This record gives sequence, C-alpha cells and structure tokens, in this order.
Amino acid sequence: MRDHGLPLTGQQGQCAKCGSCTAVCPVYRVTGRESLTARGRLHLLGTELAARPSAAYEDLFAQCLLCGACENVCPRHLPIRRLTVEARSRFSFLYGRHPLRRSLVRTVLARPVLLERLVKTGLALERLPLIPRDSGLRLKLALLDGEPAAGPAAQQETAIEPDTAAAGIQYFVGCLARYLQPSIAGATRRLVRRFSGSPTVEPRAQGCCGLAAWSAGDREEAVRLAKQNIEAFESSTGPVLTSCVSCFAHLKKYGELFSDDPGWRERAEWFSRRVREFSAFMLELDPAPVFRSPGRERILYHEPCHLRFSGENREAPPALLRQLQGAVIVEPEGGPHCCGQGGLFYLGYPELGDRIFSRACEAALATGADVLATGCSGCLLQWRTGLDIRHAPVRVLHPAVLLADCLDNDS
Ligand code: SF4
Ligand code: SF4
Repeated sequence: MRDHGLPLTGQQGQCAKCGSCTAVCPVYRVTGRESLTARGRLHLLGTELAARPSAAYEDLFAQCLLCGACENVCPRHLPIRRLTVEARSRFSFLYGRHPLRRSLVRTVLARPVLLERLVKTGLALERLPLIPRDSGLRLKLALLDGEPAAGPAAQQETAIEPDTAAAGIQYFVGCLARYLQPSIAGATRRLVRRFSGSPTVEPRAQGCCGLAAWSAGDREEAVRLAKQNIEAFESSTGPVLTSCVSCFAHLKKYGELFSDDPGWRERAEWFSRRVREFSAFMLELDPAPVFRSPGRERILYHEPCHLRFSGENREAPPALLRQLQGAVIVEPEGGPHCCGQGGLFYLGYPELGDRIFSRACEAALATGADVLATGCSGCLLQWRTGLDIRHAPVRVLHPAVLLADCLDNDS
C-alpha cells in the first residue's frame, strides 16, 4: 500500500474507547451509527480490514465532516481529523486518486440538484467557468472535470484587483470571494481602506488554500497549493488578511503539511503567523470601527466548525458584529450547530447533510433572525440553499458585506 509520504502514526491504538467523541458527533446524532464516529473509525483502522479496504469501508471514512468536534473533547488528544484524512489518502491509491470525488460524481449524477439550488442563491453563476481547475470550489460545487474553465487570461481579468498599490494590506481572497461572490472581496476591500487607511494588495499568484484537496486525501495537491500561496506572499511582510474563516483555519496549519521538510516548514510557519482573519484584523485597528444598523435587525451569527474547533480566533467574528449599533445579536438555543456542509461532505451525502442542517435550521429560525451572518464560504452556500428551499425570509450574508452595506447609512 502506498502511503503518499504520510507518517503511519499508529495513534489509533491509543483510543480509550471512552465515547466522549460519540456524544458530540453531528453524524452520530442523526444516524446513531457507531461506525460513523471517531471511535468506530479508529477501531476499524486497527483491524485487518484496513489492509484491504472495501468500497463500503472507504465509504465509512468519507462520511465525516472533519468538523473537529470529536478532537475538541478527546481526552487522549488524538489527531482524529488527520488520521481520517490520512486513511482517505491511502485508500485513494487503491480506489482512484480522488475517492471522495468519485463518490461525489456518483451522487451528483444521480441527483443533479445542487446547481439548480444554487441558481436561486444570488451567486454570480455566470462566473462558474472562471473557477480554475485546481480550485477546491469546483469540488464543492460538483463541477466535474468536463465542465469548462476559462483560460488564464480571463481569470486574470476578473479574479482579483490589479496590484496598483506599492504598499498596503496583503489580502488572500479565497475562491468563493474571488470567483463566485465578488461582493465579499469588494466589501472587504472597502472596509479595510476606510478604517485602516490602506488599500489591499492581492498577489496574482495566490490560489486555492488547498483545504478541499487536503480533506479529500489528496496531500500532494494540498502541498502544491500551499507552496504556491507561500511563494505568492513571500515578497511582502506584515499581515496577510483573509475573509474566509475556513481558508483562515487551513492557512494557519500550513506548517503541518511539511513535517518532513524543515526548509518548507519554516517558510510555511512564517506565512501562517502572518495570516489574520478579517474580523480580528478589523478589531485590532485603533480605534476599532463602529457601524450603525439601518433598523433593529435581528442578526444570528453562525459559527463555522472550522473556526469553532480550530482553537483560534473564535471570539472575533461575533465581537465585530456587536460593533453594529442598533442591531440585536441573537444566539441559537443550545449553542452553535454544525450546518452539515463539511466541505465536500454535503455533496457526497446530501440526505445526511440535510438532516444535520435541519437541526441547525430549526434552532436558527426559532431566534426570529432577519439576517444570518457567517464568514465561511461553505457555510454560506449551505445556509443560502437550505433556507431558500424552506422559503425562510432570512438574508444570509458574509459579515463584511453586512457591515459594508451599513457604511452607506453613515454617509
Ligand atoms: S470530525 Fe466531526 S463528523 Fe467527523 S467523526 Fe469527528 S465529530 Fe464526527
Ligand atoms: S474521545 Fe478520543 S479516546 Fe475517547 S473514544 Fe473518542 S477517539 Fe477514543
């Protein structure tokens, strides 16, 4: 079995079988299946089945959101997400380079509703062909290999702002804001310039953060994309701002991709130390910006799992929303809920994703929110499509878009 250069840690054998992970797993909550929990998978990794994994075995490892809830409570501090991704990576040798993609292709072909749903979300779908072939967003949207992608020239014209400023705030735009929802990038640029006094600088060579490739077990591609981004920002110093919290969580972990390469690891860790999430960046300004809401809107902040369980920067996004005077910030009963998107998970297992989403949606609607704000590209897509299907009159916005709209009330 080829291991793609990944260390076979044997850490699965350290599981205490305590079940703490089971109690918090969103997939277990809706299925009740032990084999779909961290404890169940770690057990399977230690059996003979791991040497000759069947399609059914592989499928069990694909049905994980990589949300990190289990890691957060594991008393043995086991790197459950990494073990799951490493397992996916090894299966890919036996079952095709992208097992998750094959699963997605099967599902999407059998149930081609995803793009139909997206048509109603207000995304600039005519921009779909602009998404390059190596963007994780293509996977998330189930754009298959046969779908058109624009050539490099067209991408350059539309993707990011030209680098006209000699100095400014370095901005990692991320695929959703770059290709499909440019209003997020526009709002971020506007807010940064207004409150920091500096324009954003957006190196052309930046690409996808690589989270989707990593999640699918394609470590080679994740490393390639990480190197591309590290090099793209290496000629500058100072903070690298990003407006997507899932990109943020992944960019912060670039060092882990180079455990066997000290030179690149050092470059990756330097880059990661520079990365700032949009809300934290805004709150670090002196004075921190204050906004005025046009009415007494009820705003629900949806906390993305990637941020919630990353251990960093949890407080900043809701704190920035509280700078919006006149608005009422509401919270779902029972605390934050997983929305069931999980990067590629939703495409592979839409029914399961819908069941997880339904729980989150019920709690969200009970707050009477007018607006749901979230900074993760995957969560934004999930909430837009899910609320649209339910005809719920709740606007789903990235916090930068919500706050930039409020600037107009001040002028
Ligand atoms: S990462 Fe999330 S979905 Fe996967 S096993 Fe852990 S809690 Fe369950
Ligand atoms: S919480 Fe950790 S130690 Fe306990 S069963 Fe889950 S993976 Fe094993």
